[in-house]
Amino acid sequence: MWLIDQLTDQVTRDRLSGYYTLSWNRNGQPSGSASIRVVAGVSMTVICQWRSDSSEDLQSMERIVFIENTNCAYGGSRPWFVCPDCGRRVAIVMLQKPTVACRHCLKLTYASCNEDQIDRSWRRRDKIKAKLGGDDKGIYLKPKGMHQRTWQRLRWQHQNAELQGWEWMESRLDALRGL
Ligand SMILES: [Zn+2]
Repeated sequence: MWLIDQLTDQVTRDRLSGYYTLSWNRNGQPSGSASIRVVAGVSMTVICQWRSDSSEDLQSMERIVFIENTNCAYGGSRPWFVCPDCGRRVAIVMLQKPTVACRHCLKLTYASCNEDQIDRSWRRRDKIKAKLGGDDKGIYLKPKGMHQRTWQRLRWQHQNAELQGWEWMESRLDALRGL
């Protein structure tokens, strides 16, 4: 028998290529860990090991979540996760042992805010980013002919939109965790 940990971690499609790790504790003891390998624009592999209680053997799972890009109306493209269970394109997938899937499949509902608010923040951020001439590596060079003050205002707005997006994410994560 396994228990679903209270903790639900979410991985966003905006992650860049690389390795990420997550770990959990229960009663001060390590109870599980996950390593996540992202190949930007291609896939995310989640390898997770956990123990429901200290007497139990380690359990493990490995899931591959594919990433698809869609073109945006205002230029550029935007990555989505493809839920490994239902095939929906989603902004966020959740790790809830023993699987990784979208909120629909995991039957999670958002108590305090919804996906629209997060998406709106990030759409705003991306729009400003396009004006700023930002590239995927996060490098920004002031476009020729743009006033320094306009540039600074846009940078500030961009940062704000990004922060707002993460704040919505945080509050949603808290709601999921029942905090
Ligand atoms: Zn799904």
